[in-house]
Amino acid sequence: MEIENIISFIRDINSTKNEIPLHVPTFDDLEDKFLTDVIKSTHVSSFGKYIEQFEENLKTFTSAKSVVATSSGTSALHASLFFSGVRHNDVVITQALTFVATGNAILQCGAVPVFTDVSKSTMGMCPKKLEEFLVKNAKKGHTNTHLKKTKQRVVAVVPMHTFGHPVEIDAINKICKEWNLVLIEDAAESLGSFYKSKHTGTFGKHAVLSFNGNKIITTGGGGAIISKKIKEGREIKHIISTAKKKHAYEFNHDQQAFNYRMPNLNAALGSAQFKKLKKFLKQKRELASIYENFFRNSDYIFFKEPKNAKSNYWLNAIECENRRHRDIFLKTTNAKGILTRPIWTLLTKLPMFHDSIRGDLNNSIYFEDRIVNLPSTPLKL
Ligand SMILES: *Cc1c(COP(=O)(O)O)cnc(C)c1O
Repeated sequence: MEIENIISFIRDINSTKNEIPLHVPTFDDLEDKFLTDVIKSTHVSSFGKYIEQFEENLKTFTSAKSVVATSSGTSALHASLFFSGVRHNDVVITQALTFVATGNAILQCGAVPVFTDVSKSTMGMCPKKLEEFLVKNAKKGHTNTHLKKTKQRVVAVVPMHTFGHPVEIDAINKICKEWNLVLIEDAAESLGSFYKSKHTGTFGKHAVLSFNGNKIITTGGGGAIISKKIKEGREIKHIISTAKKKHAYEFNHDQQAFNYRMPNLNAALGSAQFKKLKKFLKQKRELASIYENFFRNSDYIFFKEPKNAKSNYWLNAIECENRRHRDIFLKTTNAKGILTRPIWTLLTKLPMFHDSIRGDLNNSIYFEDRIVNLPSTPLKL
């Protein structure tokens, strides 16, 4: 299939001659109304009714026990890792093929990331490779696990649901239990994605969501922490709110803490966006099936939701034949104003993670060479 055909196809379904971005948010009068309401109320900052409303909306939608809104997905990851006891020199295992935020949050705890491979069927953490890494490199004690070579404590595992496609979370959860490791899901890309009919992010002890401008719904910038226990949700809310003890006017803080709260202004935007989440999800899945049909019988492989999963298809992805083919595809489409993007550079190649410990990364390298994302803004069909 000629790249020119793909370009005209994407132009046709978007019915525009202008530049076609990867993903842009969609707003209507509701965002205007809620934002104006917040500004008029003057409650633009860390307190206000929209924060509670947004948290409640997310809780109901995901069937989670607790949801705490935060200033970003990255801050949500940092706070969950910290809350789970990740400290200086501890080890956290994540996948090499992910957005840089996952790795940065581990560094922010002073901890050391270890990178394992993704699976061919999900593009997210591979349970088999995780287990292989642990068996080869770690030793299980009575209450915790450490690396054989360096004796560092291994504390947590952070799988990521790439582009909204759920990882094999049951198998990963089982391994975490066996090895006494905390499971924290990076569900930043997977709001609206389900594994065996259960929402992603509700399997681990904690999970994070992101509402950055490019995500399925946005608060401008923002995130959330999902917790399995109501009590832990309350404690997380406390540590992201400067750990201030409730008092009418005195300032007393009972531990080292963060200011990672989501402002009411952002939560108002989120509350308006939330009302359209189901519509966006439907549109995303419709767009995915349009792409899937188009690429059938072509020399590109459209990446489909894994088995046992319902994906939000946040970003549509196709696999090119090889890296050279991928580079030509990216260059040609971007030159014509179709803003396709490559998948991330493996974190192990970035300067801050250069010397990190890693397992075999064959599948990660395979995808890094071949995957490109296609414009994925919901179409008005
Ligand atoms: C978007 C994203 C985050 C969080 O990003 P923020 O911009 O800080 O909200 C974290 N991990 C992944 C995989 C993401 O895609």
